[in-house]
Amino acid sequence: MPSAFVDDAKEIKEDNPFESMMQRFDEAAGRLNLDPNIYKILRWPNREITLYIPVMMDDGNYQVFTGYRVQHNFARGPAKGGLRYSPDVSLDEVRALAAWMTWKCAVVNIPFGGAKGGIICDPREMSPVELERLTRRYTAELLDFIGPEKDVPAPDMNTNEQVMAWMMDTYSMHARHTVTAVVTGKPIEIGGSRGRKEATGRGLLFVCNEACKKFGFRINETRVVIQGAGNVGGTAALLMHQEGYKVIGLADITGSLFNPRGLDIPGVLAYLKEHKTVEGYTEAEHISTADLLELECEILLPAATENQITKHNADRIRCKILAEGANGPTTADADEIVSAKNIFVIPDILANAGGVTVSYFEWVQDRMGFFWNENTVNTRLHEIMVSSFHDVVAFANKYRVNTRLAAYMLAIDRVAYDTRLRGIYA
Ligand code: NAD
Repeated sequence: MPSAFVDDAKEIKEDNPFESMMQRFDEAAGRLNLDPNIYKILRWPNREITLYIPVMMDDGNYQVFTGYRVQHNFARGPAKGGLRYSPDVSLDEVRALAAWMTWKCAVVNIPFGGAKGGIICDPREMSPVELERLTRRYTAELLDFIGPEKDVPAPDMNTNEQVMAWMMDTYSMHARHTVTAVVTGKPIEIGGSRGRKEATGRGLLFVCNEACKKFGFRINETRVVIQGAGNVGGTAALLMHQEGYKVIGLADITGSLFNPRGLDIPGVLAYLKEHKTVEGYTEAEHISTADLLELECEILLPAATENQITKHNADRIRCKILAEGANGPTTADADEIVSAKNIFVIPDILANAGGVTVSYFEWVQDRMGFFWNENTVNTRLHEIMVSSFHDVVAFANKYRVNTRLAAYMLAIDRVAYDTRLRGIYA
């Protein structure tokens, strides 16, 4: 059934991430026999903000950028979600990502709702000063809508600690005092949490370890293929390599590397840092991204962007475990094919929830003014990721559904329960 947000006259496209999200939401709600009134409410985001952001460019001319902040749900606490800079940002993408944040926070049972922001821009074409002006004006426009008790942004694709520092500073200048808890993913020196930068990759390591235990895979014989070498993919590659996994494939936007004996991950990452491309790297075979996704392996870990596994290539995927580092790397149309191949999916809203979990720890530490050591952060992260993994598997067994549907059902059940508890102010 087409979602209420998509113009019915338009063809429903497989690559519309909001449609993919809603197909799963509808299926999970159906299996849960969700109260029709709660269903109606949870289908809609709480608020969508579109901004037109003027920025003075370095040549003295102004450019107007389009930005969004979608606040999907507040039932369980302040909204939480990243900010993405990319030429491909669209309102449907931000809507999907905001909803996924609601479900993700509920899967790991942390007291946040979901939100997401995005600005249509190409950060590679912009100077640091232009990016700073863009970030500050976007933040200033959102002053009434963000805050530690309202909505707490974090980094996502093409945004980083520096962008969070600018957001925190802009918000604080207007508040007339320093408000560290307005964003997470900040530099440690100004209220960031130890372990936050690595948290999404570390969370992926923890859930992959659990999945390997479940299937009796020996870590040093487990082949891993990773698409994306940024914060999520690069960190996951490094931590999994250190754990003893054999990372045989790694891709970034500039190309894909394959070595059946296992890549020298620290070497590849150092090469990427220096050259900003995998081109010219000699210790591996260079293949296409399409071929990388189809390599035979035990764990395939897409950690780049949405819509990488679709109905067009799902049949050719040759992994046993699909651990989704990116948000929405598999389309809803591909789900059935993946499921029919008996691939065990660790769905995005569980697999990559390590980032938001440590963001929650950062928010707690900022509000306490008391900072934990890295061991405490990682131990608490481990506890949450492992118990959430088993919660999802238990739900899948109880309802005899696949793990993707189980994760949605678990999340929707929690948000629906809390919505009913609060009551509907109508
Ligand atoms: P990033 O910008 O640090 O890295 C993205 C990586 O993907 C880069 O290496 C880039 O070269 C590569 N890439 C992009 N398009 C590609 C393509 N078509 N083929 C191959 N490689 C490609 O971003 P990130 O923070 O690592 O985020 C990656 C994904 O993980 C996104 O979907 C994001 O929403 C999700 N995510 C991020 C976090 C986080 O804490 N950063 C948390 C949860 C989910």
